Amino acid sequence: MESIVEKSKIIKISSIVIITIIIILLSYLIFVALRLNVKYSHFNSTISSSSIPLSVFIDDRISETINISIINDSIQENEIFHQIYYNKPITLIICLNDNESEIIFPLFKTVASGFAFSDNLVIINYQNTSNLGYTLKSIIKHELSHTLIKQNIKSFKSMMLDFSKKSLWFSEGIALYNQDHVIYQFDELKELLQDYSIEYYPESDNFHVKPQNYRLDYSLYYHFFYYLVEKYGKDKMINYMELMILDYKNGLNLYSDLFNTKIEAELNSFLIYRLGKNKQKWLTTASTGQRLLSRFLLRNNRANPLRGAGLPVKQMLDGRAIAR
Ligand SMILES: [Zn+2]
Repeated sequence: MESIVEKSKIIKISSIVIITIIIILLSYLIFVALRLNVKYSHFNSTISSSSIPLSVFIDDRISETINISIINDSIQENEIFHQIYYNKPITLIICLNDNESEIIFPLFKTVASGFAFSDNLVIINYQNTSNLGYTLKSIIKHELSHTLIKQNIKSFKSMMLDFSKKSLWFSEGIALYNQDHVIYQFDELKELLQDYSIEYYPESDNFHVKPQNYRLDYSLYYHFFYYLVEKYGKDKMINYMELMILDYKNGLNLYSDLFNTKIEAELNSFLIYRLGKNKQKWLTTASTGQRLLSRFLLRNNRANPLRGAGLPVKQMLDGRAIAR
């Protein structure tokens, strides 16, 4: 008898919790919708190549300066470059700056130029884009590259989690290569890297410079991807992307299988023969302690979408961003 009473109590409490969560979520969505209606010009279109409905919201203060066709063009150019198609509607919101995007998406505050959330939402921070010297189109293409690959990843878990945690050199490399905008030219990068070491982390199949500097990381991803395209051809890199889409968390092994060499060896060659640096100084596979630290940083980084957007070093180091 008592256990029946206990059970009904638990059910009651769970129902209250679930209903409260639903009410909070609905209020949040209504809040977002109201904001969009009040301050944002809304355009709908269907992209001809893939027949994907596109909803674009642009801050009224900048809507006249933005040529909406760059978004359609970006989508079509991305499909041609990646040789895959969008298969879900996309919402793209161009905010004036990060203060605005914070108001709309308090949970996704970012100081970056843009980020791709889930597989159907892209937020652009217009002023950051120009402040950082990018064109609006290059950032849109970058974020929509992430969206395109995510929409094609078979596993929902991999799309939501593995994509942001694993093989960043690949997801950012291909987006930057496609974006065709490099933060540092190769010679600049070579010069700047003098004071940095580079560490590779097999668990996440990724590498980054030490001390931390996202801008250099991104430039490295771009030039490394460029190096691989030169070495193997673009089609082979697209083959690798196709394999990743099927099994994203397994990038490291997929690479070895397809290219008959480890990604770490590949990076090593790039650093030694292209950047002309001594192996010991320029590439270390991280120790256990460093790996634990990296995992911790990655967890925060996942929420830190400076990826792709590029920020001045100072701002990046002070980064308060989350999500990407
Ligand atoms: Zn990115």
